[in-house]
Amino acid sequence: MATLRQEALKMVQNRERVTAVAPSSKISDYFGSQVFTLAEMKESLAPSVYSKISNAIEKGGKIDKNTADEVASAVKTWALSKGVTHYTHWFQPLTGSTAEKHDTFFDANAGIEKFKGSALVQQEPDASSFPNGGIRSTFEARGYTAWDPTSPIFIFDKTLCIPTIFVAFTGEALDYKTPLLKSIEAVNNAAVTTCQLFDRNVRKITPSLGVEQEYFVIDRGLFATRPDLIMAGRTVFGHNPARGQQLDDHYFGSIPTRVKDFMQDFEVEALRLGIPVSTRHNEVAPGQFEVAPLFEEINKATDHNQLLMDLMTKVAEKHHLKVLFHEKPFAGLNGSGKHNNWSLITDTGVNLFQPSNSARENLQFLTFLVATIKAVHDYDDLLRASIASAGNDWRLGANEAPPAIISVFLGSTLTSVLNELEENGELKIEKGENMYMKLGISKIPEIILDNTDRNRTSPFAFTGNKFEFRAVGSHANVAGPMAVLNVIVADTLKTFNADVKNEMGKGKEKKIAIVNVLRKYIKETKRIRFEGDGYSEEWAEEAQKRGLSNLKSTPFALDVFKTDKSKDLFARHKIFNHLELDARHEIMLENYIMKVQIESRVMGDLALNHIIPTAVNYQNKLIENAKGLKELGLDNDAAVETIKEISGHLESIKTNINQMTDARRRLNKISDIEEKAKGYSTDVKDAFFDKIRYSVDKLELLVDDEYWPLVKYREMLFLK
Ligand code: ADP
Ligand code: MG
Repeated sequence: MATLRQEALKMVQNRERVTAVAPSSKISDYFGSQVFTLAEMKESLAPSVYSKISNAIEKGGKIDKNTADEVASAVKTWALSKGVTHYTHWFQPLTGSTAEKHDTFFDANAGIEKFKGSALVQQEPDASSFPNGGIRSTFEARGYTAWDPTSPIFIFDKTLCIPTIFVAFTGEALDYKTPLLKSIEAVNNAAVTTCQLFDRNVRKITPSLGVEQEYFVIDRGLFATRPDLIMAGRTVFGHNPARGQQLDDHYFGSIPTRVKDFMQDFEVEALRLGIPVSTRHNEVAPGQFEVAPLFEEINKATDHNQLLMDLMTKVAEKHHLKVLFHEKPFAGLNGSGKHNNWSLITDTGVNLFQPSNSARENLQFLTFLVATIKAVHDYDDLLRASIASAGNDWRLGANEAPPAIISVFLGSTLTSVLNELEENGELKIEKGENMYMKLGISKIPEIILDNTDRNRTSPFAFTGNKFEFRAVGSHANVAGPMAVLNVIVADTLKTFNADVKNEMGKGKEKKIAIVNVLRKYIKETKRIRFEGDGYSEEWAEEAQKRGLSNLKSTPFALDVFKTDKSKDLFARHKIFNHLELDARHEIMLENYIMKVQIESRVMGDLALNHIIPTAVNYQNKLIENAKGLKELGLDNDAAVETIKEISGHLESIKTNINQMTDARRRLNKISDIEEKAKGYSTDVKDAFFDKIRYSVDKLELLVDDEYWPLVKYREMLFLK
């Protein structure tokens, strides 16, 4: 057997169990112990300073120099008491991971630990090493990070981490957090105005988010033998295991011990960091799992998701495991997503997507529900683009994954409520009559989870008291899609507010005005609603008839960023100016090219240096065998047949790899980034990947298992 594979498999057999020890049997004893919480601040700051900082956190007030100095001093004392020596500004550049630059508290000149407010508030990392989509060359070379006090400071890996935004000196955003924060503000502004039609007491509305994170886990030693996993995060070759997903037994089965140990370990660490992890289970594919925290304010939830991924990666090392966050690490099996559970919650504690017993609140509920449907309807292409990546392209529309078509699922109860609302003619309310009754919305039954959650095939589903955006990729920074969702809802609510005002200006009573506008929206947006099987062929056909787009490839899906409609939307809500949007578009295209390029090279390398030599060696053995049989005067047809089959695949692999390399060479000369990315999609990926893989995977079945160099799917996926 190929030695590396053999050794790795032996190593896996001899793994010792690594168990996790929780600091206490009571989670409340250590939950958030690594977080500089508001309570922590209250205890250590003078009341006047505390009130300034809590005001800044809640209302976005300015933080003066003195306040910053006081907070810095308190946080330093707290950090030092926990044995921490360094601090860093923690930010989320457009590389897709998190970044940090560590500095020590220790001032060697003064001989003491120091931490000034200015160091808390601002830092200058070397911006040149992060993607900027051409912003840097047009403007100043430098960028800076600035403290985001709305997300708590925490200790990770013995370092004090200060959540920050990352912007160019000229103000352009270079990260994920900045547009997210701006979008939170945009949706707050629009939604408060809408809410005040119903309740004058509402002053602030915040999106909330709960992220269900799917991932695969494999042994670290096996991972190390697969250059494709190392370089591209996914297997470019590998035949389906005999026992794949067909039995669906993994989903209901118990979690393998090694994985459970790992889960317990990272959960403890997550809880210490204040990440409220709450559920864990197996997912559909073998080797696939899910973790979900309780929902939080969207900015915190986003930071927590990024942190959780870092944490899982780190803790996995201790368990000799490797976590795969790629959307489609294994062909033919379920891919991984990140279900984004999103809702809007008022400062009076009302979830605006919660149907209620009160008729007034139900009209409010329907308003936000219909506005969200309209937002998705009007900006479906933008929502699609927000989840576009080379990795997610492999998942969308494949096994057990939402298609690249955006649609909204509501469930039968709400569908009939909306139908009724739509069909009712212009309302005439006589004095004393109950309009809510007349509309049939006086009491929308509580939406039983079972009622809504049955359809798992929708990319954007209403699930009882929230929307669940399921098409987000498992590797994505959720700030991307969430900023888009926030801003399209903000924009729609703004339109709604204006439309209602307009109706009222025509003398309509407020409630009637609202209902009239809703009815219009329901009619206009019907094509985006779909209750059937989103995974089916029929839906793809039906969606096409409805004029919904089905863009399967990232560089094409990203075209929407070039439209005036998108540019104006982002500019109107001050999320991105035109330059920033162009820069993001460019970065996403660059990213795409890089990913496909790497995959293509890995394919070439593996095929030419590992697969072909192995198959040729084996073929030589068969030739010997066939000759021997012939010498003995025996029938050697079967052997000759296999030899021919192998030759055919070898031929096909060589030819296709050569042609693919030529295509890359040609594309690399193109300077227009969009043209190049599209070329990589059609002329490299679409033209060759499947063909090459087909032959390699056939060879895997033909060549003696002993000689096969790559660890096989069945060996990677069934952990004990
Ligand atoms: P599923 O059935 O899809 O697994 P759950 O009901 O278990 O869904 O919830 C999944 C996620 O949704 C959890 O993170 C949960 O905290 C979150 N969630 C629940 N209510 C809300 C809400 N109002 N806003 C945002 N997220 C929510
Ligand atoms: Mg879910």
